[in-house]
Amino acid sequence: MVPAVFLDKDGTLIPDVPYNVEPSKIILSEFAQEALGKLSDRGFKLIVVSNQSGVARGYFPELALMGVEQRLQELLNPIRLDGFYYCPHHPQGKIDEYRVDCNCRKPEAGMLLKAAKEHGIDLARSWMIGDILNDVEAGRKAGCRSILIDNGNETEWILNEAREPHFRVANLAEAAEIILNGLHKS
Ligand SMILES: [Mg+2]
Ligand SMILES: [Zn+2]
Repeated sequence: MVPAVFLDKDGTLIPDVPYNVEPSKIILSEFAQEALGKLSDRGFKLIVVSNQSGVARGYFPELALMGVEQRLQELLNPIRLDGFYYCPHHPQGKIDEYRVDCNCRKPEAGMLLKAAKEHGIDLARSWMIGDILNDVEAGRKAGCRSILIDNGNETEWILNEAREPHFRVANLAEAAEIILNGLHKS
Protein backbone atom coordinates (compact mmCIF):
# COMPACT_ATOMS: atom_id res chain seq x y z
CA MET A 1 0.00 0.00 0.00
CA VAL A 2 1.32 3.40 -1.00
CA PRO A 3 0.28 6.95 -0.17
CA ALA A 4 -1.11 9.28 -2.81
CA VAL A 5 -1.71 12.92 -3.37
CA PHE A 6 -5.06 13.46 -5.06
CA LEU A 7 -5.12 16.64 -7.10
CA ASP A 8 -8.05 18.64 -8.31
CA LYS A 9 -7.37 19.83 -11.86
CA ASP A 10 -9.13 23.11 -12.62
CA GLY A 11 -7.95 25.91 -10.38
CA THR A 12 -5.44 23.63 -8.63
CA LEU A 13 -3.12 21.84 -11.04
CA ILE A 14 -3.92 24.29 -13.83
CA PRO A 15 -5.50 27.75 -13.89
CA ASP A 16 -9.25 27.39 -14.31
CA VAL A 17 -10.58 28.06 -17.79
CA PRO A 18 -14.21 26.94 -17.46
CA TYR A 19 -15.09 23.88 -19.57
CA ASN A 20 -11.90 24.13 -21.60
CA VAL A 21 -10.65 20.97 -23.29
CA GLU A 22 -8.44 22.68 -25.86
CA PRO A 23 -4.92 21.38 -25.05
CA SER A 24 -3.14 24.55 -26.21
CA LYS A 25 -5.04 26.59 -23.62
CA ILE A 26 -3.83 24.40 -20.76
CA ILE A 27 -0.87 25.55 -18.73
CA LEU A 28 0.38 24.43 -15.33
CA SER A 29 -0.26 26.39 -12.15
CA GLU A 30 2.63 28.14 -10.49
CA PHE A 31 4.98 25.71 -8.68
CA ALA A 32 3.15 22.65 -10.05
CA GLN A 33 6.22 21.07 -11.63
CA GLU A 34 8.46 21.46 -8.55
CA ALA A 35 5.75 20.50 -6.08
CA LEU A 36 4.70 17.35 -7.91
CA GLY A 37 8.30 16.39 -8.53
CA LYS A 38 9.10 16.50 -4.83
CA LEU A 39 5.98 14.56 -3.89
CA SER A 40 6.69 11.93 -6.50
CA ASP A 41 10.30 11.60 -5.31
CA ARG A 42 8.99 11.01 -1.81
CA GLY A 43 6.90 8.09 -3.02
CA PHE A 44 3.47 9.62 -3.35
CA LYS A 45 1.34 8.52 -6.28
CA LEU A 46 -0.03 11.52 -8.14
CA ILE A 47 -3.69 11.15 -9.04
CA VAL A 48 -5.89 13.75 -10.69
CA VAL A 49 -9.57 13.68 -9.68
CA SER A 50 -11.67 16.11 -11.68
CA ASN A 51 -15.36 16.93 -12.06
CA GLN A 52 -16.06 17.28 -15.78
CA SER A 53 -19.75 18.05 -15.99
CA GLY A 54 -19.12 19.65 -19.39
CA VAL A 55 -19.58 16.13 -20.76
CA ALA A 56 -23.07 15.77 -19.24
CA ARG A 57 -23.92 19.32 -20.25
CA GLY A 58 -23.05 18.52 -23.87
CA TYR A 59 -20.21 21.06 -24.10
CA PHE A 60 -17.63 18.50 -25.20
CA PRO A 61 -17.41 14.73 -25.78
CA GLU A 62 -15.90 12.49 -23.14
CA LEU A 63 -13.14 11.58 -25.61
CA ALA A 64 -11.83 15.16 -25.49
CA LEU A 65 -10.58 14.46 -21.98
CA MET A 66 -7.96 12.09 -23.39
CA GLY A 67 -6.33 15.09 -25.02
CA VAL A 68 -6.46 16.96 -21.73
CA GLU A 69 -4.71 14.14 -19.88
CA GLN A 70 -2.10 13.85 -22.60
CA ARG A 71 -1.42 17.58 -22.46
CA LEU A 72 -0.96 17.43 -18.68
CA GLN A 73 1.47 14.53 -19.00
CA GLU A 74 3.46 16.47 -21.59
CA LEU A 75 3.58 19.62 -19.47
CA LEU A 76 4.68 17.69 -16.39
CA ASN A 77 7.24 15.50 -18.16
CA PRO A 78 9.41 13.85 -16.79
CA ILE A 79 7.02 13.67 -13.86
CA ARG A 80 4.19 11.23 -14.49
CA LEU A 81 0.62 11.40 -13.30
CA ASP A 82 -0.18 7.91 -12.01
CA GLY A 83 -3.89 8.33 -12.57
CA PHE A 84 -6.38 10.64 -14.22
CA TYR A 85 -9.94 10.21 -13.00
CA TYR A 86 -12.87 12.35 -13.98
CA CYS A 87 -16.60 12.45 -13.36
CA PRO A 88 -18.48 13.17 -16.61
CA HIS A 89 -21.89 13.25 -14.88
CA HIS A 90 -24.29 15.88 -13.70
CA PRO A 91 -27.78 15.35 -12.23
CA GLN A 92 -29.19 18.06 -14.53
CA GLY A 93 -27.08 17.20 -17.57
CA LYS A 94 -28.42 17.46 -21.08
CA ILE A 95 -26.99 14.17 -22.36
CA ASP A 96 -29.13 11.26 -21.16
CA GLU A 97 -26.39 8.75 -20.43
CA TYR A 98 -24.51 11.19 -18.20
CA ARG A 99 -27.51 12.67 -16.41
CA VAL A 100 -27.18 10.69 -13.19
CA ASP A 101 -26.83 11.28 -9.51
CA CYS A 102 -23.49 9.51 -9.33
CA ASN A 103 -21.14 8.78 -6.47
CA CYS A 104 -18.06 10.09 -8.25
CA ARG A 105 -18.88 13.78 -8.59
CA LYS A 106 -17.06 15.66 -5.83
CA PRO A 107 -17.95 16.27 -2.97
CA GLU A 108 -18.56 12.51 -3.18
CA ALA A 109 -15.49 10.33 -2.79
CA GLY A 110 -16.06 7.83 -5.61
CA MET A 111 -13.07 8.79 -7.73
CA LEU A 112 -10.69 8.58 -4.78
CA LEU A 113 -12.07 5.23 -3.67
CA LYS A 114 -11.81 3.80 -7.18
CA ALA A 115 -8.25 5.05 -7.55
CA ALA A 116 -7.35 3.59 -4.15
CA LYS A 117 -8.57 0.18 -5.24
CA GLU A 118 -6.85 0.31 -8.62
CA HIS A 119 -3.50 1.64 -7.37
CA GLY A 120 -3.21 0.04 -3.92
CA ILE A 121 -3.42 3.38 -2.15
CA ASP A 122 -3.45 3.77 1.62
CA LEU A 123 -6.05 6.51 2.00
CA ALA A 124 -5.17 7.26 5.62
CA ARG A 125 -1.67 8.28 4.52
CA SER A 126 -2.96 10.23 1.52
CA TRP A 127 -3.89 13.82 0.83
CA MET A 128 -6.40 15.73 -1.26
CA ILE A 129 -5.44 19.15 -2.63
CA GLY A 130 -8.09 21.39 -4.15
CA ASP A 131 -9.24 24.95 -4.56
CA ILE A 132 -12.82 24.60 -3.31
CA LEU A 133 -14.51 23.01 -0.32
CA ASN A 134 -16.10 20.26 -2.43
CA ASP A 135 -12.56 18.95 -2.93
CA VAL A 136 -11.93 19.07 0.80
CA GLU A 137 -15.15 17.21 1.52
CA ALA A 138 -14.36 14.49 -1.03
CA GLY A 139 -10.92 14.05 0.52
CA ARG A 140 -12.32 13.83 4.02
CA LYS A 141 -15.00 11.35 2.95
CA ALA A 142 -12.26 9.13 1.55
CA GLY A 143 -10.35 9.30 4.83
CA CYS A 144 -7.55 11.54 3.55
CA ARG A 145 -6.14 14.73 4.93
CA SER A 146 -7.07 17.81 2.95
CA ILE A 147 -5.43 21.03 1.85
CA LEU A 148 -7.34 23.97 0.46
CA ILE A 149 -5.48 26.25 -1.90
CA ASP A 150 -7.21 29.44 -0.93
CA ASN A 151 -6.83 31.29 -4.22
CA GLY A 152 -10.23 32.93 -4.45
CA ASN A 153 -11.99 30.17 -6.40
CA GLU A 154 -14.20 29.15 -3.49
CA THR A 155 -16.95 31.71 -3.33
CA GLU A 156 -19.75 30.10 -1.33
CA TRP A 157 -17.90 29.01 1.81
CA ILE A 158 -20.48 26.52 2.98
CA LEU A 159 -18.38 25.31 5.86
CA ASN A 160 -19.08 22.53 8.32
CA GLU A 161 -17.09 19.78 9.97
CA ALA A 162 -17.10 17.61 6.84
CA ARG A 163 -15.75 20.47 4.74
CA GLU A 164 -13.16 21.98 7.04
CA PRO A 165 -9.72 21.76 5.42
CA HIS A 166 -6.90 20.38 7.56
CA PHE A 167 -4.68 23.09 6.10
CA ARG A 168 -5.10 26.24 4.04
CA VAL A 169 -2.31 27.48 1.81
CA ALA A 170 -1.73 29.97 -0.98
CA ASN A 171 -0.28 27.69 -3.66
CA LEU A 172 0.99 24.21 -4.59
CA ALA A 173 4.47 24.88 -3.25
CA GLU A 174 3.08 25.47 0.23
CA ALA A 175 0.82 22.44 -0.05
CA ALA A 176 3.78 20.22 -0.94
CA GLU A 177 5.79 21.62 2.00
CA ILE A 178 3.06 20.62 4.43
CA ILE A 179 2.88 17.11 3.04
CA LEU A 180 6.65 16.66 2.87
CA ASN A 181 7.11 17.95 6.41
CA GLY A 182 4.76 15.18 7.51
CA LEU A 183 2.53 17.54 9.40
CA HIS A 184 -0.30 15.66 11.02
CA LYS A 185 -3.55 16.98 12.21
CA SER A 186 -6.73 14.98 12.52
MG1 LIG B 1 -11.07 23.20 -8.87
ZN1 LIG C 1 -19.85 10.94 -11.65
